[in-house]
Amino acid sequence: MTTSLKQALKSHFGFDNFRSTTQENVVKAVIRGDKDVFVCMPTGAGKSLCYQLPAMLSEGITLVISPLIALIQDQVDHLKELNIPACSINSKLPANERRLILADLGSRSPKLKLLYITPEMVASPSFQPCLTGLCSRGLLSYLAVDEAHCVSQWGHDFRPDYLKLGELRARLAGVPCLALTATAPRNVQEDIVQSLRLRLPLFFVTPVFRNNLHYDVIFRELLPNPYAHLHGFITQALTTSSGSEGQGCGIVYCRTRDGCETVAYQLTKLGVLAKPYHAGLKAGDRTEVQNEWMQGKVLVIVATISFGMGVDKANVRFVAHWNLAKSLASYYQESGRAGRDGLPSSCRTYYSPKDKEQLNFLIRKEVTRRQEKRGSAKESDKAAIADFEAMVSFCVQESCRHATISRFFGDKTPNCTGACDFCRNPKAVRAQLERAAALSSE
Ligand code: ADP
Ligand code: MG
Ligand code: ZN
Repeated sequence: MTTSLKQALKSHFGFDNFRSTTQENVVKAVIRGDKDVFVCMPTGAGKSLCYQLPAMLSEGITLVISPLIALIQDQVDHLKELNIPACSINSKLPANERRLILADLGSRSPKLKLLYITPEMVASPSFQPCLTGLCSRGLLSYLAVDEAHCVSQWGHDFRPDYLKLGELRARLAGVPCLALTATAPRNVQEDIVQSLRLRLPLFFVTPVFRNNLHYDVIFRELLPNPYAHLHGFITQALTTSSGSEGQGCGIVYCRTRDGCETVAYQLTKLGVLAKPYHAGLKAGDRTEVQNEWMQGKVLVIVATISFGMGVDKANVRFVAHWNLAKSLASYYQESGRAGRDGLPSSCRTYYSPKDKEQLNFLIRKEVTRRQEKRGSAKESDKAAIADFEAMVSFCVQESCRHATISRFFGDKTPNCTGACDFCRNPKAVRAQLERAAALSSE
């Protein structure tokens, strides 16, 4: 069994080994097919293979739900390069191509193995005959829901169309379902299981603790020259370790477009080439900045959080938050883009009470706006505020930062061993808090 699985891994995907025992165990559980499967592994861990390999070894077709056409396109292109029969039906598809795909799906033995589709499309009337046909002929092998946290209103990427997937899942009663996500705190995990109506799923959850990430918090208002401080952090992070891909790079997150522009300008003036990335730029310019950064021509990208989803770069040596993230879950996801190659990397937040007040105001305003729109309060509103407060506590507490993150995601306390500023030097953390308190009472 194991050798033939390895052979299939090699022949279809060109890999000699599974990336991890978890990846292997998930694949085996999916192939067994007697239970639904829930997978929570960090970005870059190779979640796609968890359904792609079983899809290749099954008779029928695997239906993959993914939230963004761009993400789908990347995957389908990649699979086509591997000669794996995969395609996507989406609103951008020319009518003739769509007809060809539907014809294949309607044929006695379809050639397609993987069909990628957005949740909007899977619920659209035009797709129903095809779906019913596949289902009644027993041609659906698996249902894979990627980025499954989008189903949860507690999560940071909620997409209402994902809620319809529960009905889909109920219709495909006999088809094993696989839900995949990179970050899910306990309550989001529960939401996913409920909304997708998973039946006693097997859980494969990688612990959130990553010991190669060093976390720290710096109070921005205590700094005589914040930009010089950031510059110092960056030069240090970029020189201490360089990955297999040579020179490392990094991300600075800012809340506003102006913030991105200013920080990029200041860093460049101090001697490190940094470029801004935000929604105010033309799409073409944004792509160019992203490419320059991916290729290592620009070492530092100064971006709003619109940057990062689907970006997989191994040698990110630091992620700095110039502004506070809006929740601890978002922060974990954003800072987690550092150190995917496993080498030491730094995650720093520049905390400022003024900045915190601004964000607090924005979040409460957004919550009120949502409540007025629907005319009632909701659990998810409280969650947005609670997650923000967790982020603030992370910054102003005197305890291990890794422990706070792990507890937030429902994991047990990890063995930090100096991978955060508190564990490395608790006195310095206390001194900083005392100076901040003194400053605020002046
Ligand atoms: P995730 O969805 O968990 O973020 P992906 O499925 O996009 O991760 O995979 C990340 C990268 O890892 C891809 O380039 C993929 O080809 C590669 N990968 C997946 N499985 C393996 C493996 N067993 N060996 C080597 N590389 C792998
Ligand atoms: Mg993925
Ligand atoms: Zn610690």
